[in-house]
Amino acid sequence: MNTIAQRLAQIRARITQAEQRYQRPPGSVKLLAVSKTRPLTDLQALNECGQHAFAENYLQDALPKIAALNDKISWHFIGPLQSNKTRPVAEHFHWLHTLERLKIARRLNDQRPADLPPLNVCIQVNISADPDKSGLMPEAAETFAHELAALPRLRLRGLMTLPRQQSELALQRQPFRELHALYNQLCQHGFELDTLSMGMSRDLEAAIAEGSTLVRIGTGLFGPRKSSQ
Ligand SMILES: *Cc1c(COP(=O)(O)O)cnc(C)c1O
Repeated sequence: MNTIAQRLAQIRARITQAEQRYQRPPGSVKLLAVSKTRPLTDLQALNECGQHAFAENYLQDALPKIAALNDKISWHFIGPLQSNKTRPVAEHFHWLHTLERLKIARRLNDQRPADLPPLNVCIQVNISADPDKSGLMPEAAETFAHELAALPRLRLRGLMTLPRQQSELALQRQPFRELHALYNQLCQHGFELDTLSMGMSRDLEAAIAEGSTLVRIGTGLFGPRKSSQ
């Protein structure tokens, strides 16, 4: 029997061990549960174990879950976002991790309801300049950050990346180290950031070693996804 509660305990233990091994302060790495394609009952089970941050990639899948779960949950959108789909993100989510276009940012800024706090955003960076991956080129990130500063209904919190899969720890660490360097550069230039969204089930140790503050974990919590998803 490998229940959601047991998987949650295993992931929390991996995070704690990595914090210790890499001299990160205890509790400095937060866990984001990636619940794309998972049924509501799985989210409820995890929520009852004390997990309050969930991430979704597909809007049509996410909105019924948001409506059904309680309002103490923080919802993160981590999928690709087209400009005709910005309104539900502006209205129902607390965070967006995959921001890379000014047009999308402006729409979200206009559509964010006045009674909600600003939408927290991370710039997605294509840190290894991989033609198959989305995200801004690293050298474009600072200009984009300046453009976002003019949008009061968005709050830039940090950077996110989704690097190419690698099996060796040293290779996994390289892109995360580069994203952290870019993050430090933005902080030195006056941006008040607190979030490095990096690390998934297979590479969370590498991400924590390189300064991740938020790991996005799907299969490690919920088990394998169906292959098409
Ligand atoms: C699916 C997904 C994850 C989680 O991946 P796992 O390997 O299941 O932990 C993290 N980040 C993004 C952007 C994803 O799409």
